[in-house]
Amino acid sequence: MSDKQPGFETLQVHAGARPDPATGARQVPIYQNTAYVFRDADHAAALFNLQEVGYIYSRLTNPTVAALQERMATLEGGAGAICCSSGHAAQIMALFPLMGPGLNIVTSNRLYGGTVTQFSQTIRRFGWSATFVDTDDLAAVEAAIDENTRAIFCESIANPGGYITDIPALAAIADRHGLPLIVDNTTATPYLCRPIELGATLVVHSLTKYLTGNGTVTGGCIIDSGTFNWSNGKFPSLSDPEPAYHGLKFHETFGHLAFTFHGIAIGLRDLGMTMNPQGAHYTLMGIETLSLRMDRHCANAVKIAQWLEQDPRVGHVTYAGLPSSPYHDRMARICPKGASSLFTFSLKAGYEACVKLIDHVNLFSHVANLGDTRSLIIHSASTTHRQLTEAQQIAAGAAPNVVRVSIGIEDADDLIADLDQALAKATA
Ligand SMILES: *Cc1c(COP(=O)(O)O)cnc(C)c1O
Repeated sequence: MSDKQPGFETLQVHAGARPDPATGARQVPIYQNTAYVFRDADHAAALFNLQEVGYIYSRLTNPTVAALQERMATLEGGAGAICCSSGHAAQIMALFPLMGPGLNIVTSNRLYGGTVTQFSQTIRRFGWSATFVDTDDLAAVEAAIDENTRAIFCESIANPGGYITDIPALAAIADRHGLPLIVDNTTATPYLCRPIELGATLVVHSLTKYLTGNGTVTGGCIIDSGTFNWSNGKFPSLSDPEPAYHGLKFHETFGHLAFTFHGIAIGLRDLGMTMNPQGAHYTLMGIETLSLRMDRHCANAVKIAQWLEQDPRVGHVTYAGLPSSPYHDRMARICPKGASSLFTFSLKAGYEACVKLIDHVNLFSHVANLGDTRSLIIHSASTTHRQLTEAQQIAAGAAPNVVRVSIGIEDADDLIADLDQALAKATA
């Protein structure tokens, strides 16, 4: 054995997985199981008091889900991780210990559409609010922070425009204000971007996308860096006595694992947004090939974006992997191995041509998803962004003449041929 830290490709296969202690099974078994037998009454009491770590009930912990948590924490370089039922659940679970009525987050205005709705509408029912800012305007980020702010939120590679966030610049602002920086790393995955190394406190994921990678699972995950000082006076849920555990103080008791323990012992216990073991198993299988798939997703996306960029029927292509992108320079610092495979392009012939293009593709699937081995296409203005005004659609990068693609791992020439024939029919 050498002293070298195992590489990403080794960890994506091995982290969190060991031969099953009961049977020797080499693949992580699906523990399709709800409750766990206590050794005796003292063991049960110690588990319920959080004095001993173990399995009680699968709403809180499950061995298959625990293997995935350990793998995600390792791949992101975090201290711990909590898996949950979807990417949107992960966002609520990440904010829950930090927030309370009257408190707010400062967030990038370049976000997944569902997140814009969650942050601008739904969280208000909890008395929380979000201030949306252009995170390239660091003075605006700074100005949006007030005494009630409890986190800064952004996506590493933002959906759908191929925008790359300057994570170290936001981390510096968060640090100055004693706030955690939360980064949604769904589009990049830990293979392309490592937000914790760039200064993030928490990383959230939709496991539904590239991590599982094949369109079979809805899941989410929060990874904690373990480096944040939760006892700075702003985060009483983590620093002050917790009545539901006899006055236990999470930060004092669990140190760098405070957020992870709180997420399981309070978050999953009481919000119940639990990931199921079958889903965790599929995601573990998907992650085994993450680097191979992401390399291929990125290479295909570069090839197809370059082909589209030179096509006279196409207007603008927004892929950060293209040297012509204004965000290309940031790639070297934020996601040096590639810019993932999600981007948009516009058609000079406008809205009607976009709708016809979608109707005439054969290999691309017309679905509202991304990060699948299959190539996906959607016309946002007539689907996901249909309820918005044209001005709002343009601001969201979903103008009427724009199509969004998530490039899969098929033969790139086949994908180009499919787009070429559909473009011919759409613009005839
Ligand atoms: C899909 C997605 C989400 C939401 O994840 P679900 O698993 O669908 O709940 C959040 N953020 C980004 C960037 C996404 O792509």
